[in-house]
Amino acid sequence: MNDVVRLSGLTRSFEQGGVRIDVLRGVDLTIRPGEIVALLGPSGSGKSTLLQAVGLLEGGFGGQIVIAGKDASNIDAAQRTTMRREHLGFVYQFHHLLPDFSALENVVLPQLVRGTDRSECDKRARELLVALGLEHRLDHRPSQLSGGEQQRVAVARALANRPELVLADEPTGNLDEATADRVLAQFLELVRGQGSAALVATHNERLAMRMDRFVRLHDGVLEEGSVGGFPPM
Ligand code: ADP
Ligand code: MG
Repeated sequence: MNDVVRLSGLTRSFEQGGVRIDVLRGVDLTIRPGEIVALLGPSGSGKSTLLQAVGLLEGGFGGQIVIAGKDASNIDAAQRTTMRREHLGFVYQFHHLLPDFSALENVVLPQLVRGTDRSECDKRARELLVALGLEHRLDHRPSQLSGGEQQRVAVARALANRPELVLADEPTGNLDEATADRVLAQFLELVRGQGSAALVATHNERLAMRMDRFVRLHDGVLEEGSVGGFPPM
């Protein structure tokens, strides 16, 4: 089976007030099917930038990006959209749910976009939302839900199409500690249960310890974590 992610020598620079900053300076990363990887690093170290590359959300990166065996290094925006729909799911720090749609509809929609039969979409959305403890919230709009409930709906939406890879950028960063722990545990259980791989950016080492392994951004390159040991920040 293909690696889900293969990055070689990934680079990205930005201009800030006439100064060029090299955020990613040659990142190498391989993620195998079903592997759950924590992406650590302090604020400003480039975690979101790296997720944008892997998530095919933007161009402008140097080096090689291979997703699910397909070279995505030099593809255009339309091809990126197609590959995103085919292979990827996303969870962000803030839920980005559609405000005028119910919880159920928010989870149905990405499946419809992919051409899945309406009744199948509905069944899958209910199954996920029930697994996340939201059976009594199916018809609520995002504004009628608590922060933790909103993030659970966002998790269900990300997993709806059973993506090979789920990308999560500080997925529980907006929640209190107890809620963050619960939502992350549910997220990991569902991801494992369906065999998806995940790359989860967090600056929370306690949460990272629940994943299969971790990598840490430092000076624009990735350091691999050693099994059983988290080096100091
Ligand atoms: P993290 O997610 O680890 O906090 P980011 O990837 O958001 O880090 O940002 C890394 C660095 O890149 C920061 O210095 C940030 O200011 C800079 N940066 C990110 N996106 C842009 C952009 N679109 N334009 C200019 N600078 C950016
Ligand atoms: Mg970030």
